[in-house]
Amino acid sequence: MLEVEEALAEVMTHARRLPAVDRRLTEALGLVLDEDVAADRDSPAFDKALVDGYAVRSADLAACPARLRVVDEIMAGNTPRCAVGPGEAAVIMTGAPLPHGADTVVMVERTRRVDDVVLIDDPGSTPGRNWLPRGREVRSGDLVLRAGAVLNPVRVGLLASVGKTLIRAFPRPTVAVLSTGDELVEPGQVPGPGQVRNSNAVSLGALVTSLGCEAVVFPAVRDEPEALRRAVAEGLRHDVLLTSGGVSAGQRDLVPGVLDSLGVSKVFHKVRVKPGKPLWFGVGPVREGETPGSLVFGLPGNPVSGVVSFLLFVRPALRALAGQPNKVEQYPRVRLARSVVHSGDRPSYLPARLIESAGQDGIGAAEVLDSAGSGDLRTVAAADGFAAFLAGDYRLDQGEIVRFLPLV
Ligand code: AMP
Ligand code: MG
Repeated sequence: MLEVEEALAEVMTHARRLPAVDRRLTEALGLVLDEDVAADRDSPAFDKALVDGYAVRSADLAACPARLRVVDEIMAGNTPRCAVGPGEAAVIMTGAPLPHGADTVVMVERTRRVDDVVLIDDPGSTPGRNWLPRGREVRSGDLVLRAGAVLNPVRVGLLASVGKTLIRAFPRPTVAVLSTGDELVEPGQVPGPGQVRNSNAVSLGALVTSLGCEAVVFPAVRDEPEALRRAVAEGLRHDVLLTSGGVSAGQRDLVPGVLDSLGVSKVFHKVRVKPGKPLWFGVGPVREGETPGSLVFGLPGNPVSGVVSFLLFVRPALRALAGQPNKVEQYPRVRLARSVVHSGDRPSYLPARLIESAGQDGIGAAEVLDSAGSGDLRTVAAADGFAAFLAGDYRLDQGEIVRFLPLV
């Protein structure tokens, strides 16, 4: 049986980034850029007023009060009609181009207007210039984003500002989510005797979309070889296939056999971890057009096991497919707010709530929650993630430091 680190290393060697594609900027949020992008013009593209007021020559403010003749009105989006000469001023709005001759903008609040004359008693103790020189933010040809940048809301705005409406980026991986189990009913149904609601399809689908990937959630399938085969074959058309349930040693645990029969080559089955031991991982046959085979994760059916397996193995793989740097995550450390007694020969991930954010030493505090085990979604819903414990029978006192696997 593989250790978590070994299993993760196996997953990551198969999780190569998808080929880059062209995408419209409006669809680019969350994608990883695969090109350097340069500014197509200076920004601002002209000397730009930063306040509403009057563009003046600072020499005219040497002796205040000043009386200046208003010769122009420059609105944002307009250009000045004339220069500002000695003894003159121009009305100017925030964002409008500064006229020739002017080197200061006096805020409108510090002026009085009488007909075509503006009176300035005091331009302010430190008037400043109140305008931004052309190119002060960025110069034409400067790189504004480099390949590898993750496109957050500000970065897509920046791309828009340089006129980049079509970008080269790594696509969102598409992920098929397929729950298996004779006992499953839809969340909107009342379970009969022995039945449970299919919550995994919802939580796994949500984990996928929360990472910016595209989830394709299949209807639950029965523990029946033919039905399972058809659904899995369909799922293998996606970059990643997540199955839920049916990977343990039970008589109706048909997933490994079906995957094998469809040419999915097994990389490992079972990991020394709790919860999540039955995890199965393999690579599907090469797809149409030489597209690499689907990465297949056979997740255990227990809801908490599925979540922990997803966070440990699927999340890093999806990030790699999406073009994010293929680095194995170093999870943050937390201090235990209460002592924990650990037992068992597998490393464990126990639901825990962060109760203090990281201090100067970079270490926060977390409280391990009392959980009823790998079906107890309610406790995990109150948690921020999972505290990681090494295998063995021991007690860790309050204040001891462990790693923390965050939910988001
Ligand atoms: P399995 O891994 O198929 O043996 O499933 C283990 C247990 O997980 C089952 O007995 C169910 O109680 C639960 N389970 C399996 N699939 C789901 C699902 N899709 N949603 C919620 N619970 C599930
Ligand atoms: Mg099952």
